[in-house]
Amino acid sequence: MTLTVVGSINIDHVIRLAQFPRPGETLTGSDYQIVPGGKGANQAVAAARAGAQTHFIACVGDDALAKTLVEGFVADGIDTQAIESISGVNTGVALIQVNNEGENTISLAAGANARLTPEQLQRHSGGLACEQLLLQLEIPLETNIAAAAQAKAQGARVVLNPAPAQTLPDTLLSLVDMITPNETEAERLTGIRVKDDAAAAQAAAALHAKGINTVIITLGARGVWLSEQGKPGQLIAGFKVNAIDTTAAGDTFNGALLAALQQQQPLMAAVRFAQAAAALSVTRHGAQTSIPYLADIQALLDAN
Ligand code: AMP
Repeated sequence: MTLTVVGSINIDHVIRLAQFPRPGETLTGSDYQIVPGGKGANQAVAAARAGAQTHFIACVGDDALAKTLVEGFVADGIDTQAIESISGVNTGVALIQVNNEGENTISLAAGANARLTPEQLQRHSGGLACEQLLLQLEIPLETNIAAAAQAKAQGARVVLNPAPAQTLPDTLLSLVDMITPNETEAERLTGIRVKDDAAAAQAAAALHAKGINTVIITLGARGVWLSEQGKPGQLIAGFKVNAIDTTAAGDTFNGALLAALQQQQPLMAAVRFAQAAAALSVTRHGAQTSIPYLADIQALLDAN
């Protein structure tokens, strides 16, 4: 089985401060870190670290940090041949401020991520002859639609993590086999506030009605609501851990889920594996810095 991720690469600049500055105000923070991020990159890294053979189609800018980022992907065993460098633009950037309450504000400059076009997919069409395609929403919508259409036409399972939250056209949703929204994203797509299990079941039914066979709504520390077309949905509890930073929990869940499915695990077992990986990620700071490796995931599964 082969897995291809099409998506974004960002460099996260993270400053911790007591409180957020108001307009016109300057405040000094306590801590500054540059951390590799971007939903596409995080999910590709999570899949590779969980043992999946992973191809990544993406764009970086022609700045100095891009080389370091791609070297990191290579070190994780990701096939980076379809990552293109675009001259004259920056690699995607996220400016993240985290306050004492653990809340964050994020400003994004898409940079090279906005230049990932359907033409680039054509140049790397071999990557879309895959068994599983994993998409998110930090690249142009037309590129996601083109990737989904090409992969699906060749028999792939198309998985969409619809993050960050936005409304989506049926042209994309009708190509999707499995969707993995969090509560906010599920509400944006269906208009249903996921306040309890009954609402989760309703939101899942609305997504099944779009032609999506498998719906997994992630519910933070509670776990996930898993619903397959034609079967009753169910809550699958998460792992109890001491959470210190939930950045990239959803990304880790998605990458690890596809890694487990690539290894032919049944869906329930794959969800449990993905929840173990995501639980480990919330015990560590940052995005890619928090994504666990297979041995750690296996150890948590064995201990529970
Ligand atoms: P989210 O995107 O916040 O819904 O999180 C995705 C997945 O990460 C969840 O479905 C859980 O499996 C896991 N997760 C998130 N937050 C926690 C937490 N505080 N404790 C344990 N697991 C978590």
